[in-house]
Amino acid sequence: MTERKTNGIGRRGFLKLGAAGVAGAATIGGKAKPAAAAVAGGTMMAAPLPAAKGPRVVVVGGGWSGLTMAKYLKKAKPDFDVVLLEPSSVFFSCPLSNLWLHGVVETDMLIHSYVDAARNNGYIWLQAALVDLDREKRRAYTSLGTIDYDYIVLSPGIDYMYESFGVEDPAEQYMVAQNWPAAFKPASEHLTLKGKLEDFEEGVFLLTVPPGNYRCLPGPYERACMIASYFQKEDIPGKVVLIDPNEKPTIKAEGFLAAFEELYKDVLEYMPSTKIEGIDVGKKKVVTDFEEIEFADAAIYPRVRAARLIENLGLADPKSPQKEAAIDPLRYHVIGDEHTYVAGDARPMPFSKSGNTANSEAKIVARMIAAHAEGKEVPWQSPETICYSAVSADPLESIMVDAKYKHDGTGQGWGFTDVVMINDRSKDLGKANIEWGKGLWRDMFEA
Ligand SMILES: Cc1cc2nc3c(=O)[nH]c(=O)nc-3n(C[C@H](O)[C@H](O)[C@H](O)COP(=O)(O)OP(=O)(O)OC[C@H]3O[C@@H](n4cnc5c(N)ncnc54)[C@H](O)[C@@H]3O)c2cc1C
Repeated sequence: MTERKTNGIGRRGFLKLGAAGVAGAATIGGKAKPAAAAVAGGTMMAAPLPAAKGPRVVVVGGGWSGLTMAKYLKKAKPDFDVVLLEPSSVFFSCPLSNLWLHGVVETDMLIHSYVDAARNNGYIWLQAALVDLDREKRRAYTSLGTIDYDYIVLSPGIDYMYESFGVEDPAEQYMVAQNWPAAFKPASEHLTLKGKLEDFEEGVFLLTVPPGNYRCLPGPYERACMIASYFQKEDIPGKVVLIDPNEKPTIKAEGFLAAFEELYKDVLEYMPSTKIEGIDVGKKKVVTDFEEIEFADAAIYPRVRAARLIENLGLADPKSPQKEAAIDPLRYHVIGDEHTYVAGDARPMPFSKSGNTANSEAKIVARMIAAHAEGKEVPWQSPETICYSAVSADPLESIMVDAKYKHDGTGQGWGFTDVVMINDRSKDLGKANIEWGKGLWRDMFEA
């Protein structure tokens, strides 16, 4: 096998991220119930934190939602004592990671320090996971001890549902997750996928689009473009096969279809209206409603659900097929509990599960909580989904959408409003794509 260069990820980057991935996986993978024994026995000590200097707000999850929430809670109400719980040691950005797979951006651009975020914005980062909650006592049970709070905001992101592809046996689910990780949750999965591309020799590289409302609607199509472009650049005799249950790309369809046809005709096969009904782990093939497709390697992206933490805490809506939280859709708090909030990709509203949505939404929720603490209310406001997708790497060209949401007055029926969609790929949008990422990282990590 010929040795290919590592496209922007140096050995230093691998080592740094390797450590982060292990910390995150070890803590998040476990069931959320171990604390129950400690809770019942009353053995858990208080977490190692300074005494609260004001109303304590615990934010769970240091992703796009939680990082923005922690910063903007402090901005909205400086006397809040904000604690961000996040078990990973380093932040890894999913946005722009498809460009990084190709080598368009470097690893250092995607990783950021939780220490900096907390220090620059006057809150505390506790490197711990939430494992249980006593909402009556307003006590959080974390992997480092208990925290008494006035408000808690849960932004734990997503988990995968391999059952959606007919893979029911946990042992098989584990095999699929480990061998062909989706790479739609940050860090370790992305590193594995990058390594796979660097080692890929020939044959079909399989990608899938999940059913339902999944994280980053354009993500699988953007990734297909970046991997196809990578195969062209590195002269790899491989083909990307993208299986999609939808009739056409779920967003920016015209721009993606034009790129598939005009740039990647020989290296990318798009299979719309195709449902995966099973995965033969041993034979490396997927069974669709039409045929069986063998693959040399893959990143298999199943249906998503709210992070298991939400269900483990008893907060999932039993009617939600994606096990999202049962909250007031206009006020974000758990039904009947105005001290527990859920935001980001774990929310039940059918917004785009995107970083920009989570970031703009967190600013709104932070203002709602600050107002509640003062006995006031702020009117509902729409989050904003601004989303660039790279379709060509060299030169970097992107397409984009900018949209807000409207509701039917009850928060049950939702639609898009103020939509601007640009499907003509351009270098200007390519530049704007990178600037968008830098702007949001600055917003989350700098003062
Ligand atoms: C490849 C890819 C490309 C993308 N591109 C874009 C893009 O161009 N633009 C865009 O806007 N969005 C994009 N997205 C989507 C974006 O990354 C997500 O929508 C966003 O990360 C959601 O934020 P979140 O805070 O809800 O979840 P996350 O960012 O996943 O954060 C959740 C955090 O919670 C932590 N956590 C989980 N359980 C616990 C616990 N028990 N205790 C404490 N912490 C816990 C996790 O460790 C994690 O850090 C992309 C996603 C992917 C995968």
